[in-house]
Amino acid sequence: MAAAIVGVGLLCPSRLSQTSIHRRHKRSSSFIRVNALSSSSAVEESKKTYTLKKSEEAFNAAKELMPGGVNSPVRAFKSVGGQPIVIDSVKGSRMWDIDGNEYIDYVGSWGPAIIGHADDEVLAALAETMKKGTSFGAPCLLENVLAEMVISAVPSIEMVRFVNSGTEACMGVLRLARAFTGREKIIKFEGCYHGHADPFLVKAGSGVATLGLPDSPGVPKAATLGTLTSPYNSISTVENLFESNKGEIAAVILEPVVGNAGFIPPTLDFLNTLRKITKDNGALLIFDEVMTGFRISYGGAQEYFGITPDLTTLGKIIGGGLPVGAYGGRREIMEMVAPAGPMYQAGTLSGNPLAMTAGIHTLKRLKEPGTYEYLNKITGELIQGILNAGKKAGHAICGGYINGMFGFFFTEGLVFNFDDAKKSDTAKFAKFYRGMLEQGVYLAPSQFEAGFTSLAHTPEDIQQTIDAAEVVFRTL
Ligand code: PMP
Repeated sequence: MAAAIVGVGLLCPSRLSQTSIHRRHKRSSSFIRVNALSSSSAVEESKKTYTLKKSEEAFNAAKELMPGGVNSPVRAFKSVGGQPIVIDSVKGSRMWDIDGNEYIDYVGSWGPAIIGHADDEVLAALAETMKKGTSFGAPCLLENVLAEMVISAVPSIEMVRFVNSGTEACMGVLRLARAFTGREKIIKFEGCYHGHADPFLVKAGSGVATLGLPDSPGVPKAATLGTLTSPYNSISTVENLFESNKGEIAAVILEPVVGNAGFIPPTLDFLNTLRKITKDNGALLIFDEVMTGFRISYGGAQEYFGITPDLTTLGKIIGGGLPVGAYGGRREIMEMVAPAGPMYQAGTLSGNPLAMTAGIHTLKRLKEPGTYEYLNKITGELIQGILNAGKKAGHAICGGYINGMFGFFFTEGLVFNFDDAKKSDTAKFAKFYRGMLEQGVYLAPSQFEAGFTSLAHTPEDIQQTIDAAEVVFRTL
């Protein structure tokens, strides 16, 4: 098992000169970036060629049409300043904005793109499926195929229900846990995000954390009365909550590796204790693996850590870039879901053939030998390179990774929970972020989001990113 937190002060990669970075960029793409340390003539040349004019125009128009100009808050770049880039196309590890600038992408559509964007096989399979139509609203064989793949991969899942997003998966699983136990209270952890349903918008991560929002207006008090919270990795708080709410807690839900408060791994002791305490108290343990499922190993965090929850939520990767979510678990619990049982949950587009197809072909690729070893290798090199570069430039920085998921904070660390994460210098992150963007590297536009690598990221992509980070760190 990989050490979750990578210390700083690791070997420093050899540094390329400013001019060689420029040349590499020129060769690999039409995107010439502003380099704060390069000669003034090079800066002038970069300024001339690096423009976000079209993105700016499009985003200004979007702001009149959609709240904040976006359909999901973190995309708006509020916490890193400036305007978001508007994307034209993606392929492999790369994306291009509408001004023609090229970026190495470490967001991967927030996780789904683990085999690389717009994979040829996935696109071909989608084209074939599409010939038969895009939605049946009736059973199709592809649902069986993906369900079998998910069930055989994820240790806790004996039966699965497909939905259309991670939010839906978490809403469904919560109702199911309450239905099965006949109890109403749940424990969630500060900084963990389980979608935007009312009961989860208490000390939530992701956009809520990024924008520093209090719990959202519009959420009725009654909806969150049953939501108890604890700092992540804090066993004693969970024990106290069970003690003071005896026989009332339906479930404990968590991101088994946090990605929505930045990258925060669990201690094994924490996960083991949660497994034991839930069992001892007749409560269910729910792993929200919307992010970690098929990312930190084929069987998710539960396979990686060897701890089997009662219920699991999935999303992102199992839809291969199309809208999907899922929840699953032990047969006796899942058989409570309608129409097998009385717990109601439904969906017009659930299990649609396109999403099933993209999921099936994404999982097929992931199942090939060596995939997670490759992700582990490149992600390790990436985070070690970034930490080395940051440390060398004199910055307080810490971070870590597990296979295809990584993150770093501008603080000495270590980071065990959201309060620790909030010690990060977010103003510095914002500057770093804009610098990296100009260098052609697209990171998640928030200190409180994990990063993702893919099978399409090459060792050259990783080195180019580290070189870019070296340049940017020196400007902070
Ligand atoms: N749970 C987790 C752990 C997530 O990371 C996310 C989304 N980032 C969700 C739930 C919600 O998923 P969606 O955005 O598909 O609704």
